[in-house]
Amino acid sequence: MLSNASRVFQTSDKLKENFTCGICGENYTNDKFAPITLHCGHTFCRNCIDQLGKDKHVPCGVCFTNTWTPAKKLTKNYQML
Ligand SMILES: [Zn+2]
Ligand SMILES: [Zn+2]
Repeated sequence: MLSNASRVFQTSDKLKENFTCGICGENYTNDKFAPITLHCGHTFCRNCIDQLGKDKHVPCGVCFTNTWTPAKKLTKNYQML
């Protein structure tokens, strides 16, 4: 019974990963935590992109590739919602 419960938890936890920001762990939403995909292919929430991209480029929080587009001009990835 106990092992069953933990297996279910792991499965739903893995599924959830695709819909949460890899930096702050928040669920993607349509506004403050809107998913933004960088040019390297990694996706983070609007809130974290704004934190990372205070300059003219946005450095990826995972692979450190710079996306040479100001954070404000990057658009939402609606497929993630
Ligand atoms: Zn985030
Ligand atoms: Zn990246």
